[in-house]
Amino acid sequence: MSFGIDDLPVRDELRGKSPYGAPQLDVPVRLNTNENPYPLPEPLVERIAERVREAARQLNRYPDRDAVELRTELAAYLTKTAGHPVAVENVWAANGSNEVIQQLLQTFGGPGRTAIGFEPSYSMHGLIARGTGTGWISGPRNEDFTIDLAAAEKAIAEHRPDVVFVTTPNNPTGNAVPPETVLALYEAAQAAKPSMVVVDEAYVEFSHGDSLLPLLDGRPNLVISRTMSKAFGAAGLRLGYLAAHPAVVDAVQLVRLPYHLSAITQATALAALEHTDTLLGYVEQLKAERDRLVAELRALGYEVTESDANFVQFGRFEDSHATWRKILDRGVLVRDNGVPGWLRVTAGTPEENDAFLDAVRELKKEQS
Ligand code: PMP
Repeated sequence: MSFGIDDLPVRDELRGKSPYGAPQLDVPVRLNTNENPYPLPEPLVERIAERVREAARQLNRYPDRDAVELRTELAAYLTKTAGHPVAVENVWAANGSNEVIQQLLQTFGGPGRTAIGFEPSYSMHGLIARGTGTGWISGPRNEDFTIDLAAAEKAIAEHRPDVVFVTTPNNPTGNAVPPETVLALYEAAQAAKPSMVVVDEAYVEFSHGDSLLPLLDGRPNLVISRTMSKAFGAAGLRLGYLAAHPAVVDAVQLVRLPYHLSAITQATALAALEHTDTLLGYVEQLKAERDRLVAELRALGYEVTESDANFVQFGRFEDSHATWRKILDRGVLVRDNGVPGWLRVTAGTPEENDAFLDAVRELKKEQS
């Protein structure tokens, strides 16, 4: 046996655990990590090069620690798209929304504290909780993957968590959480502790409904987390952000590393924000493709969970991992999130989606 992690004096809660690991396989059609399939348009690539060239001239200096210009532009984007005024003081940015979530858990969670999420949901909430020494509570969902409000309220009252995660639209299931449910969970969390409620809106631009940003009014313990990885087609950029009461923005600065957001990242994100309208045009195409995937999968006889995201959860399979493999054998990589009976496919280009649909059509034929 070779020397491994467990031979090192690692923290007890990390023993025997695996890292986050969506496979990065070299296959013709990759529909497994909810990326945007459209490369950035050429004029934007040019603009990024220009802005990065400018930033490069000052790389001898540390970047703007508070990323004020970028946060101002993110606030303008939110104000415009959510129809709700958001100011620079309400916005904080970090390297992907994963880092935003980590900073929130470092601030409001930590040793002796707990966080709850309603699973299946985004697995990194629990993993980041573990990494920050926060206890993790797995809350329930209904059979149809909606949040069981009564059970959720009961779990919050019983465990009195310090942080409550609500992912809407939810990953990996795709369904959005009704605003009334989020409000009820917020009330339950305030009555129990009070605690912070983090609404993860990574996929909200793909939703049939609206952002919950207007709920921030008068709710200082509510945080909305967002990302440029999905709708902006910039997963490689690593830019996530949050909107909340200015006190929350002040609080996360207690834990953020100084100069965490590089000058290159800030310059690139600013360039992307200049091209918001073009990028959101792709979102409309992806929403149409998502709706097509839902309709065609249902027509083929698959069960499909309602989707407000850029991906679709479909089933049911006796052995979802074996089905995942059969789809992979046909050159299409989808995601097995470990939800028994279900798989998840990201909406790609029309050609990629056709390749996926051909693969699952063949599987149906094989079975009949
Ligand atoms: N939240 C949810 C619900 C996600 O699905 C993801 C990415 N898969 C993230 C947050 C993290 O995104 P990023 O760090 O790229 O912003």
